[in-house]
Amino acid sequence: MKRVDYDYLIIGQGIAGTALAWHLIEAHQRVLVVNDSSRPSASLVAAGIYNPLTGRKLVKTWLADELFPYAIQFYQRLEEKLARKFVYPQNIYRPYRSQEERDNYLSFISEPEISKYIANSSESQIDVIGVHAPYGGLEVKGSGWVDLSGLIKFSREYFIENNQYLESEFDANDLEVNDNSISWKGLFARKVLLCQGFDARENSLFDWLPFNPVKGQILDVTFSDYSADKIVNQGIFILPSLRDNEYRVGATYSWHDLDWETTEDGKAYLENKLRLLITGNYEIKGQRAGVRPSCKDRRPLIGIHPEHVAVGIFNGLGTKGVTLAPYFADEFVNHLCRDKELNPEANIARYFSLYDH
Ligand SMILES: Cc1cc2nc3c(=O)[nH]c(=O)nc-3n(C[C@H](O)[C@H](O)[C@H](O)COP(=O)(O)OP(=O)(O)OC[C@H]3O[C@@H](n4cnc5c(N)ncnc54)[C@H](O)[C@@H]3O)c2cc1C
Repeated sequence: MKRVDYDYLIIGQGIAGTALAWHLIEAHQRVLVVNDSSRPSASLVAAGIYNPLTGRKLVKTWLADELFPYAIQFYQRLEEKLARKFVYPQNIYRPYRSQEERDNYLSFISEPEISKYIANSSESQIDVIGVHAPYGGLEVKGSGWVDLSGLIKFSREYFIENNQYLESEFDANDLEVNDNSISWKGLFARKVLLCQGFDARENSLFDWLPFNPVKGQILDVTFSDYSADKIVNQGIFILPSLRDNEYRVGATYSWHDLDWETTEDGKAYLENKLRLLITGNYEIKGQRAGVRPSCKDRRPLIGIHPEHVAVGIFNGLGTKGVTLAPYFADEFVNHLCRDKELNPEANIARYFSLYDH
């Protein structure tokens, strides 16, 4: 084998690249994270919520029993290592929209697999000041949010201090792929792992994967009469931010106009929902947009290229980067370093029939 400077080059430092880098470092691998911070990142826009029961039918999130405990443990491990706070466990309060919805929810939560995530269900207003909830609501537990921006910022500082970070654009045309190694701009590594989020589509090595990106927008707001120590969720969510008295309201979902620009339509959609949910006034302080790197079947896109064993991808985290990234970073590292099988539902091998180069 040629000279090797690193075991792994990781391209992109959103939550995917960050979680993967930490797991490889913990596995004593030599890592260099290459990231162009002038590009947008979904992780820096995301609300960071983790929520075991989603949608109108309170559907249990895929692999919730495994993903959630692992993710919390991973973020707490980083809190200790970096001496910062990143994870904020918080129940999710879901006001019922109608008597009918209340009856439906009460029947859903009679299922033991669902009821273990229910903290409380009530016909009366729970202690959330300023929320319109004439039919009462229920509270989901095992939920909360992660400060992804802080986690990425302080991880980057650590990587820089340890010579594990390079601020640079990555162009796949500069990549030389050999049988068991790669070289890029004079650096040699055993493998390159692409964690580029939405931008993976511009990379010819993986442009055959069935990406299905989803644009999303959120608002930063202040309220005249609202106070909650929980996340509130009814079609949209309201959650506290780290800025005093400021909350985040989101999110929109759009499969077209896939850019990073905020729109008046997005703002109007969120405001309409917000007005129905709260009783007082609000003021908009900011608006942000991002593109979620989703796959058609809503499962992660992880694994080694069908032709080039030195090239891998860690993508497709979609709407759930917070909980998918740590668990699947662990799986991927076990695959890379210990030859363990990847979950077939996440392994890109499920799409190899689409590869035709
Ligand atoms: C409005 C909104 C709300 C969301 N809310 C939540 C939520 O509450 N909970 C949740 O779990 N998820 C949420 N998500 C989804 C979450 O943001 C994504 O799942 C996650 O951020 C994807 O992370 P990633 O690392 O794959 O991509 P990104 O965060 O986009 O990171 C990609 C990185 O790669 C770098 N990069 C790309 N191309 C290159 C290149 N050529 N050279 C160098 N660097 C490059 C970029 O600079 C970037 O840093 C939300 C998303 C949006 C848009």
